[in-house]
Amino acid sequence: MNAANADVLVAGAGIGGLTAALSLHAAGIGVRVIEPVQVLRPVGVGINLLPHAVRELTELGLGEQLAATGVATARMVHYDRHGNRIWGEPRGHALGYHWPQYSIHRGALQMILLDAVRERLGERAVVTGTAFVRCAETEGQLLRVILRDLARGREHSVRVRALIGADGLYSTVRARLHPGEGPPLWNGIRMWRGVAEWDPVLGGRTVAIAGSNAHAKLVVYPISGEAERRGRALLNWVAEVRFPVEHGGMSGAADWNRSGRLSDVLPYFAGWRIGDLDVPALFAATRRILEYPMVDREPLPRWGRGPVTLLGDAAHPMYPVGSNGGSQAVLDARVLARSLAVNDPDRVAGLRAYEEVRREATAELVLANRSMPADRLLQVVAERAPEGFERVEDVLTPEELSELDAAYRWTTGTDVAELNGRGSWGVG
Ligand SMILES: Cc1cc2nc3c(=O)[nH]c(=O)nc-3n(C[C@H](O)[C@H](O)[C@H](O)COP(=O)(O)OP(=O)(O)OC[C@H]3O[C@@H](n4cnc5c(N)ncnc54)[C@H](O)[C@@H]3O)c2cc1C
Repeated sequence: MNAANADVLVAGAGIGGLTAALSLHAAGIGVRVIEPVQVLRPVGVGINLLPHAVRELTELGLGEQLAATGVATARMVHYDRHGNRIWGEPRGHALGYHWPQYSIHRGALQMILLDAVRERLGERAVVTGTAFVRCAETEGQLLRVILRDLARGREHSVRVRALIGADGLYSTVRARLHPGEGPPLWNGIRMWRGVAEWDPVLGGRTVAIAGSNAHAKLVVYPISGEAERRGRALLNWVAEVRFPVEHGGMSGAADWNRSGRLSDVLPYFAGWRIGDLDVPALFAATRRILEYPMVDREPLPRWGRGPVTLLGDAAHPMYPVGSNGGSQAVLDARVLARSLAVNDPDRVAGLRAYEEVRREATAELVLANRSMPADRLLQVVAERAPEGFERVEDVLTPEELSELDAAYRWTTGTDVAELNGRGSWGVG
């Protein structure tokens, strides 16, 4: 199917692109989405949606589906590799937010968004099998965009008033706006990921983190409301191990679908037991393990130009610290729709207003995620108590404990009163 002319064209039907389509439609702005994948399937493993993003998706009318599909996270707890508790705090509703935090399968979330787009905007709103290639000339207020129909191998063009590059880590829109940027930047951490059905662990509804990025770290949380209703847990796990970065190279492609090997990850977690969770047994029970390098890109001094901008990972890929990748893409989408509506009919002014709100805020997060502020003290715990401990107060001084607390609060960006108190970003 050809992508016909539209007011706004969104390149990429990921979490950000689809949320942008729903938000623009809600604001009364015509929108089409193009996506190279021919048939979108629920790919990926778990992600976390922070209360900020859940608020936006709830205002888009998706609250009930999120509640039925994901798991409302009750707490986040950091353990040492033996399962001794170092630090923890409630999350979502339990922390006082008016909106929950959800742990959810990325693919399931994408399908919720896709179904909503097709239902509200029509079956033709998302044109699959079609990739953005480049922008051609601007004619008055219209930008001519060259697309490729991948099945036919043919290029065609459409005329739009604005183009949004929501085309992920390897964004072609970004590459056209910022040529010569090169590949993503790897920090030496390899991440293995997987999901496996298990008995509920650690009290259920817990995002559990063990170890540190100085060496090996594990993140585990349940992601399925359906499994929970059966008295089971679909556990999402991410195992991160740091390696030396040689010649700026990478440990394999940053491809979300790349398979990983159990034998590569298992040695680093031999004997790990976090409360009632036998970590090597969880890895071994995982049908498909995926591997991905921890990458980001330098924040850009500007995102877009004229009637073109970027959104989500295309604009600000970041390390998955603090559950921000998907959530920030959702926030971008909502601010974008609001900025275009407020500045209507001047699309260029709307795009610049969006960038004004979102570019610096997300750049700060990219840089903050690099610094991993809690890690130094977690490494101190591992060095002082290699065989574990009874009370963390016996391992860290009161000053170190409050430093750790501050580091966590900074990383997890707790701002309950601000979110609860501010007005809606919805328009229309
Ligand atoms: C297949 C897949 C699996 C993922 N799995 C995980 C996971 O398990 N855990 C995790 O934390 N994050 C995962 N992510 C990344 C996560 O979705 C993002 O970090 C976050 O949600 C921000 O979303 P986004 O919409 O900006 O980018 P993405 O979700 O990456 O979406 C970008 C979209 O743009 C499309 N696209 C690419 N090139 C073009 C082009 N030339 N023209 C038009 N469209 C284009 C892509 O096919 C994709 O659908 C995954 C991403 C993908 C694409």
